[in-house]
Amino acid sequence: MNICIIGTGYVGLPTGVGFAELGNKVTCVDLIEEKIAALKAGRITLFEDGLEELFRKNAENGSLRFTTRLGEGVSNAEIVIIAVGTPPHPETKEADMRYISAAAAQVAEHLSGYTVVAIKSTVPIGAGDDAEQLIREKNPAADFDLISMPEFLREGFAVHDFFNPDRVVIGANNGRARKIVDALYDTYKQKPQILYTSRRSAELIKYASNAFLAVKIHYINEIANLCEKVGANVYEVARGMGLDSRIGAKFLSPGPGYGGSCFPKDTNALAFIAKQANVDLSIAQAAIKGNGERKIEMANRITAALKGVKDPVVAVLGLAFKGGTDDVRESPAIEIVSELLKRGLRIRAHDPEAINSAKAVLGDRIEYAQDAYGAAKEADLLAVLTEWEEFKSISLKELRMRTKIIVDLRKVFDKQIAIADGFTYIGIGE
Ligand code: NAD
Repeated sequence: MNICIIGTGYVGLPTGVGFAELGNKVTCVDLIEEKIAALKAGRITLFEDGLEELFRKNAENGSLRFTTRLGEGVSNAEIVIIAVGTPPHPETKEADMRYISAAAAQVAEHLSGYTVVAIKSTVPIGAGDDAEQLIREKNPAADFDLISMPEFLREGFAVHDFFNPDRVVIGANNGRARKIVDALYDTYKQKPQILYTSRRSAELIKYASNAFLAVKIHYINEIANLCEKVGANVYEVARGMGLDSRIGAKFLSPGPGYGGSCFPKDTNALAFIAKQANVDLSIAQAAIKGNGERKIEMANRITAALKGVKDPVVAVLGLAFKGGTDDVRESPAIEIVSELLKRGLRIRAHDPEAINSAKAVLGDRIEYAQDAYGAAKEADLLAVLTEWEEFKSISLKELRMRTKIIVDLRKVFDKQIAIADGFTYIGIGE
């Protein structure tokens, strides 16, 4: 099948690579010349576990092509997948639809023959209607169906999730696109479960799912606060809750709050949509407010632990919004570091993959270290802000710190071992 993917970001690139690996001919389009030049030259532009190998293989065997010229991809495609960004408006926080509109307008110019146009980006309810109308206005003769194909992959696990989706949701207002969608997913070794819904329902499924997960994270963070006051242990509580199949164990890890390019943006966008519709989404609203405050509370925890330490240096482990990615968008780690900088603290940070992306935000306001041992050298407090798996193998005994305090916001270290190694250990909810 000929597929065109518009946008080669954290969603578009793994999707393009994945469909190429399944035997399709994929053309990936992006506006950014440097990105396309790098991809054409065989240099991957983002970090995702397992992606680089599949990218190289499919680029080399010709299944995967890259271009800045949208027409080259769209005119031959049976399906065009739009995966451009929908960032929040700086004030209202509603999803900014300018990239979707621009992409749809460009697609309209190049459609030839029956084509399915699928919006994979996370968009407000009714955005599919608008994009369809825009294409019809620009190209009244175009033969196409516009469907919603929301993406549920987790950054850091994008390759795994592409090949093993829990479900595929397709929002289509008529059955004509179904043949092409079915053929697309027939290329999977094991065809995923496809849920067909109306276009608007599919658009809302994405927002409702992300907001639900954000609420779950905020809930366990509030339970962690309660554990600290009443002498319970949140990890035991979360385990006990998670064993209930109605609740499930996932997203019950307490921490410094949710971040990333999706949860904060999508909860805010959903709240905006609800407000416009005059519907009270009080639970999502509480999560948004509480999650904002959470990062300040965590910065307070770090500053309180340093009371009495003269000219303290904070070693930070982790800058990415979560382990397994180089993405620092809305990263709680970056927000906490920024707050600590405001308070005049000196910071030396290490992250296995996100130093370059963090430098683009924090610049030289902090120092960067090649590894955890370098970050911790002569520091007074070790703050664990991102849950990278490899942090678990750090030997606390070998850290040459000036003052031995750990604030572990990700439960990377064992409290008893840290105490036995002479550290003051401050965690969450225990
Ligand atoms: P991104 O910013 O990483 O990538 C978007 C890409 O689209 C950029 O490279 C940009 O240059 C390109 N682009 C914009 N307009 C274009 C145009 N007209 N033609 C060609 N290229 C264009 O964004 P992302 O993280 O991949 O997210 C994309 C969408 O998917 C968003 O709506 C997001 O909410 C949603 N989503 C993201 C994730 C995630 O984990 N990142 C998961 C599910 C859904």
